[in-house]
Amino acid sequence: METNYTQLKTRLIEVNDIQAAAGLLHWDQSTYMPPGGAAARARQSATLRRLAHEKFTDPAIGKLLDDLIPYQQSLDYSSDEASLIRLTRRQYERAIKIPSEFLAEVATHTSESFQVWTEARPANDFERVRPYLEKTLEYSRQSANFFPGYDHIADPLIEPREYGMKAVDVKRVFAELREQLVPIASAITSQSPADDSCLHKIYPEEKQLAFGLDVATRFGYDLNRGRSDKTHHPFMTKFSLGDVRITTRSKEDSLGEAMFCTMHETGHALYEQGIRGDFEGTPLARGTSAGVHESQSRLWENIVGRSKGFWKCFYPQLQQIFPNQLNDVSLDTFHRAINKVERSLIRTEADEVTYNLHVMLRFDFELALLEGEMEIKDLPKAWRERFESDFGIVPPDDKDGVLQDVHWYYNLIGGGFQGYTLGNILGAQFYSTALETHPEIPNEIENGEFQTLHNWLIENVYQHGSKFTAPEIIERATGKSMTIEPYMKYLRTKYGELYSLD
Ligand code: ZN
Repeated sequence: METNYTQLKTRLIEVNDIQAAAGLLHWDQSTYMPPGGAAARARQSATLRRLAHEKFTDPAIGKLLDDLIPYQQSLDYSSDEASLIRLTRRQYERAIKIPSEFLAEVATHTSESFQVWTEARPANDFERVRPYLEKTLEYSRQSANFFPGYDHIADPLIEPREYGMKAVDVKRVFAELREQLVPIASAITSQSPADDSCLHKIYPEEKQLAFGLDVATRFGYDLNRGRSDKTHHPFMTKFSLGDVRITTRSKEDSLGEAMFCTMHETGHALYEQGIRGDFEGTPLARGTSAGVHESQSRLWENIVGRSKGFWKCFYPQLQQIFPNQLNDVSLDTFHRAINKVERSLIRTEADEVTYNLHVMLRFDFELALLEGEMEIKDLPKAWRERFESDFGIVPPDDKDGVLQDVHWYYNLIGGGFQGYTLGNILGAQFYSTALETHPEIPNEIENGEFQTLHNWLIENVYQHGSKFTAPEIIERATGKSMTIEPYMKYLRTKYGELYSLD
């Protein structure tokens, strides 16, 4: 039995190594690669992805998994060995149901679609991408139909990101959240918006980046196992537990940009760096779901990084770095500026309160498209109508409406957006549980100390990697299943003070 287990692990590590090489190619492409490398790089990445898929779907892995059934049954559910076998079987059974020709076809299609989108968006030309998007919807439906027996057609598309959660669960949580969120958003946005002009002076890039990285290391980001580089669309990537990288971007006339991008990606990186070292190279060595991953970026960026307590410690330092820009700006003014709430067009620039409404709009449209209740050609109009009813403003064009997010243009439709809002909800749930055990955390944050919080998260969330599913991790860490209560309480308290709500 143990020989079979060792053999399985060896094969999985080989698959991981190919994936890590593909990840490194992608990191390079997004940071330092000259534009001339693009065509060959796309081919090289496709080759590596194909090799990894072939290696993982090798029937020999299926055979090893079958042979390991008695061994698995003899083990405790939460043992590392049983967990690795269980996770691998789940991923294997999913992978073998999707033909590799289909994957290759979709990859070719989405790379064309992405290319067309990069030109159609600035030209505000939805008609140009429409045929591609129609094809994408077809592929998305086809992809779901490799898994017959679903309750909702979106379920198989949600599954790889949020195992244990179905469309109906997301719908329920979103409906509950929406009901409580809309009145708060309206109460805030009916007041005059906070003055954030202090963020839009000129802030030299190098100093911004250095400050962001300093905060990241204070949070606990280990630069012996990480680094930070510039890119257009920031992301975190991991090649091994000893090499977890973040990327960021900056704008000279927008102080929040680099700072909060860096905090956000640091949250993702802390999760990966916190995984148990002996999981290295196996499928256990990554965050368990998109929602839980996003909970960590949101927790560090928003709950910690946009809190008054954090800035009590860090604002004097920031003022020292930018004395001409900030010396006459009070802590209160600065804190209000970084927490400005407004009705805005762009999801990625939205504040904590209205952000979720952007996500819900997209999620609802994805379901309607997959269900066949809505057609691609109706999207721009539907977008404007829904946007007006949710936000009270009409997008002036498609560029900042239906064309704004890359997701549908380089990936399938379904499963890509809900993780952001689940992350907001879960970030607050984990944080409030950490505070129950360690009420001293807010005081520590005011002193620039993050170790108690970081350790609690390592202990209860990070170290386990993918050993447990998201619902299992949430239950184990917080003693409850996912609930919006801590998140709503967080929003009410914080924004109640900032905007004097009743
Ligand atoms: Zn993120």
